[in-house]
Amino acid sequence: MNLQNPKKFKMLVDQAHESALNVLRPISRKYDKAEHSYPKELDMFASLIDGMNDGGEGINAGAAVGKRGHTETGNKNGVNMSTVLGVIEMCYGDTGLLLSMPRQGLGNSAIAAVANEEQLERFKGTWAAMAITEPGCGSDSAAIRTTATKDGEDYILNGEKIFVTSGERADAVVVWATLDKKLGRAAIKSFVVPKGTAGMNVERLEHKLGIKASDTAVISFIDCRVPAANLLGHAGIDVAKGFAGVMETFDNTRPLVAAMAVGCAKASLERIKEIFNNQLDENYATPYLQTSHIAAQIYRMEAEWEAARLLTMKAAWMADNKKPNSREASISKAKAGRICNEITLKCVELAASVGYNEEELLEKWARDSKILDIFEGTQQIQQLIIARRELGKSSSELK
Ligand SMILES: Cc1cc2nc3c(=O)[nH]c(=O)nc-3n(C[C@H](O)[C@H](O)[C@H](O)COP(=O)(O)OP(=O)(O)OC[C@H]3O[C@@H](n4cnc5c(N)ncnc54)[C@H](O)[C@@H]3O)c2cc1C
Repeated sequence: MNLQNPKKFKMLVDQAHESALNVLRPISRKYDKAEHSYPKELDMFASLIDGMNDGGEGINAGAAVGKRGHTETGNKNGVNMSTVLGVIEMCYGDTGLLLSMPRQGLGNSAIAAVANEEQLERFKGTWAAMAITEPGCGSDSAAIRTTATKDGEDYILNGEKIFVTSGERADAVVVWATLDKKLGRAAIKSFVVPKGTAGMNVERLEHKLGIKASDTAVISFIDCRVPAANLLGHAGIDVAKGFAGVMETFDNTRPLVAAMAVGCAKASLERIKEIFNNQLDENYATPYLQTSHIAAQIYRMEAEWEAARLLTMKAAWMADNKKPNSREASISKAKAGRICNEITLKCVELAASVGYNEEELLEKWARDSKILDIFEGTQQIQQLIIARRELGKSSSELK
């Protein structure tokens, strides 16, 4: 086994790391304080990333995640792996700013996961947010009530979406809606709704605990007409396949959120190691019983962090190698989300007044981390999915 980062991505990881330190960190506190203001510094940075992507492997935060079934066979480290590695480094810089990066929305992963070839081409370069959650429908995404009614060459959307990350800033929103509530999960499809479409309105932006640089919108859809060609994938309702179509989105996005958690935790862990540098043995040669309690806690956090990192890379590697990764995507997100919460908060505790003070970013990372164990499926939901896979139970058998 080779557990190092693939060598071919070294340059990408180094670039992302430098960008995190030199572009994101300097404006971290500014946009933590100025909630809802647009981080304009990211525009030029996003253009640079676009340029790097045009030239081959670049930093991606979602947009370029490969379509399942479109990767080569064999043992390969492809775009899923490079994206995860890039995201880890960028969130080492700032998670909220990464989520605000133009053209790198989670909706882009949704498009990559479900769109057909023509749609992939048409929506290339579109910055897409993802709107699944509704009032009364969070964890149970099968309970979606937003409707899509066919009318000639269009669909008409009606409903309300809440907590849409980048919902105000993105060029388009990928909206989950049902074609027929009676047919249950199989009738849920995703639609790309471009910004400015009549009937789609941002009602308000949420005030949040963390990731304040990222806008989180409530969006209403009232007789919102979108071309039928914007329904991602197939319009047919395949009751046997059930939810599988749209759910493939999560196989792409959960490893990404796990990567965000690994990156956010890394920021806290590295800072705490700097603060307690004099207590740590970089060769890990000091016998455990002679290790200070603080050092022992830091070593334990490092081990948990490494486990999360490897699970995240495994989920991405499986996607690059066309292996079904739903179980591993959930495992990576469950582990990384949990340890990110634990590590960032523990680092505040260990650094005490320094950890709690706004002079440092430790308190901010602890606030930012919480969402990573909530969105794209909470800790409990990931555990439920893993249990279903392990026990061979369906969603109706194990709720
Ligand atoms: C900042 C932010 C950004 C977000 N961005 C997006 C976005 O871009 N797009 C989008 O669509 N959504 C987004 N969300 C919504 C997010 O995905 C949901 O909040 C999440 O899925 C949980 O849903 P809920 O809040 O309705 O909680 P609920 O589903 O009501 O859950 C409440 C609690 O019950 C637990 N629970 C629920 N069901 C079970 C069960 N069967 N077994 C055990 N425990 C259970 C949950 O784990 C949770 O602890 C965002 C949320 C936030 C806060």
